[in-house]
This record gives sequence, C-alpha cells and structure tokens, in this order.
Amino acid sequence: MQVTKTIKATRDQIREWKKAGYSIGLVPTMGFLHEGHASLIKKCREENDKVVVSVFVNPTQFGPNEDLEDYPRDFERDCALCESIGADLIFHPEPEEMYQDACAYVSINTLSDTLCGKTRPIHFKGVCTVVSKLFNIVTPDNAYFGQKDAQQLAIIRKMVKDLNFDIRIVGCPIIREEDGLAKSSRNTYLNSEERKAALCLSRAVRKGQEIISDGCISESVLKEMREIVESEPLARIDYISVVDALTMQPVDQVDRDVLVAMAVYIGKTRLIDNFSYEVQK
Ligand code: AMP
Repeated sequence: MQVTKTIKATRDQIREWKKAGYSIGLVPTMGFLHEGHASLIKKCREENDKVVVSVFVNPTQFGPNEDLEDYPRDFERDCALCESIGADLIFHPEPEEMYQDACAYVSINTLSDTLCGKTRPIHFKGVCTVVSKLFNIVTPDNAYFGQKDAQQLAIIRKMVKDLNFDIRIVGCPIIREEDGLAKSSRNTYLNSEERKAALCLSRAVRKGQEIISDGCISESVLKEMREIVESEPLARIDYISVVDALTMQPVDQVDRDVLVAMAVYIGKTRLIDNFSYEVQK
C-alpha cells in the first residue's frame, strides 16, 4: 500500500493505473477510522481494481467555533486498518497542499439550508469543495459515502448530477456499536456517563422506525422521538426532522420517500443519527 502526500504523486499513480485499464474506487474520510469507514473501504475493495482512501481533516468544513483542532487523529492506525482491508493507496495531504491560496469553492444552493446546514452554515460548502477536489485529483469510477451522513450523501449525489461528474456514488448503511450507537470518530469525546446518554439517539431512531407508516403525520413520529431524547438529562436537541429524501426540505406528512434525521448535543459533543423510509410504490 502506498501513501501519497502530494496531488502530483497521486495523479502520477492514478495515470499509470488508468493506462493499465484498472477501475478506481475512492473512499473520502477525515481519518481516525473505525468500522463504519471500514465497511465503505471493504465495499470499495469488492467493486474496484484499485482502492484509494483519502485521509484529510478538511478545515473548510469546520465553522469557527467547531472542533477542527481537537478532531481525533491517528494516521498510523488508519494505515494499518486500510492495509488490512487491502487498500492500494492512501492520499494524506496537508491543508496547504489542498488549498494554498485557493479562493474558488463549490457550494449547493438548496439541500444545504436545512438539518445540519442550519446549525453549520459553511459546512456543506467545505464538503462539496473538498469532495470535488478529490474527485478531480483521483478521478474515480466509483466513490463511497455513508448513510450515517445522510444529508451529505444527498448533497453529493445532487452535486455529481448537476456538475456532470462521471462518477457513480455508492451509499453504504450505518454501522453501529453493539448497543446501537452509530459509530463515529467523535464518539471518543464522550465520557462514560455521556456514552450511556448517547444511546437516546439510536433509541429514538428505533422508535421512529417502529411507528412510521405511509401517509402518517410527521409530527406524530417526531413527538415520540423527541420524548425519548428529552427524557435524557445530558441531551439537548439541535434538530429532529422529517424531510423529503431528495430535496431535504421538511414534509408534514409521509407521502413520499423521507429521511428522518436528528442532531443532538450530548454534553458538548454533537452527534447525528437518522433512518430512511420508503413509501410503498
Ligand atoms: P468522516 O471521516 O466522518 O468524514 O466519514 C467518512 C465517511 O465514512 C463518510 O461517508 C461517512 O458517512 C462514513 N461513515 C462514518 N461513520 C459511519 C458509520 N457509522 N457507518 C457508515 N458510514 C460511516
């Protein structure tokens, strides 16, 4: 497995692989890899001749008071995990390599003004920019993203369609701890009391999945989910919402495919979880 730190070295390798006719898969990550990331890399390994994983804590997707400095990092462990799955290349650039004096950005008008985009107004502009750059550097045939970040996945799909990237986007299911908590690099911020409290998210998701049905009123689902989270003293809801699965705009009634998504602060740590629901066709 190779590690590249520059755009040029990455492009040189990609060019050779393309000349040899290999298909290329990309898994963009911010590192501190866990089994959620591993599931994406495994899927990428199954479907491509060459597997590229990017490990880059992207500064442009963090707001001024967010956790850029504290974001957990362990590149050696990340390398070991990627190698064990059979990745071929890790692209691990420094921020200067990616941005230098950049002033061009990619942003998306709708889809990013709801859910996480409300609390994190510059987040998806940073995500779209870095993912576009990675797409241009790696030029993958397939790129893998987790349903854990469902709004991000919807935004990337729309960006790829609107900007005509010739890349297939593959969404992968949420991987959870045994007790239900969605795996996340940010779970390491939780102390033991908070870790227990954090289970209110997955409990609310399970409840929502149980009670949602075709045509039901969104508020009836949200009320029960909210009650579960609000009964946890360490939890503070940022949002819980039922949105159209494609546009990310809130819907009053489940009369189309929806995403039910939530962000909850447990102490200072902001965690997200969600489920998708498809109406019967
Ligand atoms: P991150 O390193 O947090 O930016 O995540 C990189 C990719 O891994 C994103 O596409 C995430 O949606 C995905 N991912 C993170 N956690 C999980 C999880 N628990 N299950 C599935 N995918 C995940």
